[in-house]
Amino acid sequence: MSTRPGPASRSLRCHAPGKINLGLRVVGRRADGYHELVSLFAPLDFGDEVEVAVSKSTVLELAIKLEGASGAVPADATNLAYRAAKAFAEAADLNCRIELRIEKRLPAGAGLGGGSSDAGAVLRALCDLFPGALDGPRLAELALELGADVPFFLDPRPAMVTGIGERLEAVDGLPSLPVLLANPGVALATADVFQGFAAIQPALTKSAPDRRIPPLSGATDPGWTFTGAAGLSLENDLEPIAVRLCPPIARLQRRIRAAGAQAVGMSGSGATVFGLFESAKAAERAFEEAAFEAPVWARVAATQESR
Ligand code: ATP
Repeated sequence: MSTRPGPASRSLRCHAPGKINLGLRVVGRRADGYHELVSLFAPLDFGDEVEVAVSKSTVLELAIKLEGASGAVPADATNLAYRAAKAFAEAADLNCRIELRIEKRLPAGAGLGGGSSDAGAVLRALCDLFPGALDGPRLAELALELGADVPFFLDPRPAMVTGIGERLEAVDGLPSLPVLLANPGVALATADVFQGFAAIQPALTKSAPDRRIPPLSGATDPGWTFTGAAGLSLENDLEPIAVRLCPPIARLQRRIRAAGAQAVGMSGSGATVFGLFESAKAAERAFEEAAFEAPVWARVAATQESR
């Protein structure tokens, strides 16, 4: 096994943004059980902070420290960020010490992609710290092995995501959208939601063309222009199952709608719901008006514009 020389101590800080799904369709199920999706992923201006520090060692050493995390987030080798660092180091034959420090701000198991984003941030940081250690295709492959949402977080920008998460098409012309996020304070396991979905859709074994139309499907067409959030129905095929498993989802959506949202959706497999607003001020007013109480987690944020 070849060994890259360990670097002098260096560290990088990376923002690990959350994401919301502006519509999500489940369009098929592969023979291996993975579901194929069509969804417009939009990164948020809010997320975790990840620091990656590397120093000399003759063997690969990894360590992780979490700040602000709930008990649901493992501070050990099972953490997705740790697994990302290990996978990168092994694939690139690195012998060094890698220390990760993560300030968790995103709720876990919330459909906001927190774990996947932490992993993506670690991979981006390691690419910068070890330029050329892995080529683009190998990095993309490694990201997908870590999780279906990780490829998106290698370069977070508004994108139409298809396949199980490996096909990404950047969406141009999407402005920053003010958003009010609310999570009922209950973690919803993605696997449970997909299992519930598979139980009610047992026939969905191959891609169904009529299910290929998410609300913003034209977003990757040339000449597409965004005409505003009003009137968007942010359909999410996983919502009925998520609501069955976690009824407060529907109640939170009603409250956000009543507080003046232009459109209301659910992110990923839930349980975080969101409303889109015409301005940050309107989102702030809705946040005040909705007066969420613990255990609800809520905050105003904005999606990142296309670049
Ligand atoms: P996705 O939208 O990608 O399905 P999510 O937002 O629903 O993800 P995560 O925040 O990624 O959910 O957490 C899912 C589970 O993954 C957590 O309950 C936790 O046990 C585990 N996990 C592992 N590493 C991390 C991490 N770095 N941050 C958060 N959760 C992690």
